[in-house]
Amino acid sequence: MLSIKNISFSYQESKVLDQISFLLEPGSHLSVMGESGSGKSTLLKAIYGLLDLDSGEIFWNKEQVLGPNFNLVPGEKYMRYVAQDFDLMPFTTVAENIAEFLSVFEQENHEARIQELLEVIELVDFANVKVKNLSGGQKQRVALARALAQEPEILLLDEPFSSIDQFKKNQLRHSLFPYLKEKGITVLNATHDPNDVLSFADNVLVLKDGKMIAHDAIQQLYQKPKQKYIASLFGQVNELPISLLKEYSEMDASILIYPHEFEISKDAGFEVYVVNNHFKGGYYVIEGVAENSQTVFFTNPNALKIHARVYLNVSLQLVNRRISIKK
Ligand code: ADP
Ligand code: MG
Repeated sequence: MLSIKNISFSYQESKVLDQISFLLEPGSHLSVMGESGSGKSTLLKAIYGLLDLDSGEIFWNKEQVLGPNFNLVPGEKYMRYVAQDFDLMPFTTVAENIAEFLSVFEQENHEARIQELLEVIELVDFANVKVKNLSGGQKQRVALARALAQEPEILLLDEPFSSIDQFKKNQLRHSLFPYLKEKGITVLNATHDPNDVLSFADNVLVLKDGKMIAHDAIQQLYQKPKQKYIASLFGQVNELPISLLKEYSEMDASILIYPHEFEISKDAGFEVYVVNNHFKGGYYVIEGVAENSQTVFFTNPNALKIHARVYLNVSLQLVNRRISIKK
């Protein structure tokens, strides 16, 4: 169990982590989300023992993680950290870079272990290529393999796919995350990409200006976001006065609605007129304007005529789920 107990950290005057507390079960996968500058990288660095905290404590089981003032060589053996700026040996091969991180006590297994790790990062054909000749994304994958070499109990990933192209990113997620689950490795993944989170994370922690503003199971967080900032981490979202819906015309509250959650009708719901169509491949995001002049985004299988008028409705069930959100 990872226990984060009320930690705070500042760079000079400015507080970057503000009284963060949470527990992380062994083998579970936590995504740390938040806008750029919200403190994701700092939180991971603190957990790895790279920072001296202003206050609070960090424990992995019964062992306390201490900062550089108390621990000259950061990084406990049970924990690995893949930084945003990975640090490899450029003049040796991919295989040698990985081998350097394998245990000296298991020499006879090295070949097989290197092969296994090359498969996870999908660089089997690059085993003998010098790291300096790899692309940024390939280097990032080698950094991942090195972190996994000695099978840590807990792995801290800071935007692990940031330099990897879209196509490869998807393949890697599907090879890396299930591998970590299967090995029972506890994962903390700092990311702003919802595709890293949906279908892989058990729980999500949301940071804003160094404060933890949510910590929940992924489905719960997505279905009942407590504020627009949280819902926006998963893409476009509408925040509308609920009074736009006839049944709630007296109510002073706003409601968050993802574009795909509207039902389009010819006559029921609130009226919008179409101002733009955005092609998304399998569907369109339609940009409309509601009677209160607010822009509303909703999805439709086809493009709609500009200036057409349609009615948007949302299910009662959805309203009930979201209604607790006050302005
Ligand atoms: P994120 O990873 O979510 O983008 P960071 O943890 O990198 O955010 O940064 C959080 C805040 O701390 C930002 O305001 C950033 O400017 C500041 N910060 C990060 N590193 C340093 C540093 N070495 N010195 C001073 N301020 C820093
Ligand atoms: Mg960062």
